[in-house]
Amino acid sequence: MDVVELFKFFINSKSETPDDGGLLEFIEEYLEGFDAVRVDVKDVKNLFIYKKFSEGEHLCFAGHVDVVPAGSNWDTNPYEAVEKDGFIYGRGAQDMKSGLAAFTQAVKETKEFKGTLSLLLTSDEEGEALNGTVKLLEFLENNNLLPDACVVAEPTCSKEFGDAIKVGRRGSINGYLTLKRETRTCRIS
Ligand SMILES: [Zn+2]
Repeated sequence: MDVVELFKFFINSKSETPDDGGLLEFIEEYLEGFDAVRVDVKDVKNLFIYKKFSEGEHLCFAGHVDVVPAGSNWDTNPYEAVEKDGFIYGRGAQDMKSGLAAFTQAVKETKEFKGTLSLLLTSDEEGEALNGTVKLLEFLENNNLLPDACVVAEPTCSKEFGDAIKVGRRGSINGYLTLKRETRTCRIS
């Protein structure tokens, strides 16, 4: 498979959170010769797959195989990749089956690397994200497998592919703000 075929194959899988659509098992077989660890938690599927090419740094590619339910109003089947006007359409094409296909193929085609390459994949990113990456990272920490650096293939470009790389990840903070009205008595003299 080339990267485009792989991308279409990923789109064709109905992997609505927390269903991985069989993709983790597929990737495990696709990356032959890599060591794979499954850390499934409840209905969430997680895969850490790695290969030590030589001594050196450990670079990890992180991502998710799940998508938000497709909903209605699609012109075509959301789980059938459609090529039109130079683009490929389908559920999760942008977030993040394109990134997933890109790094999976890149890692598969790597012949030499100074260090270790790995993929950290979950089926629980678009949901509550409690039993996915967090649990995998705990596992990696306990087994001395934490990477030195990580590339997350979430879509980040603003206009054109590759026009932005973000350092870190945007987060969010939730809280309550209580406004109290103060009553004052004005005395007019
Ligand atoms: Zn995403």
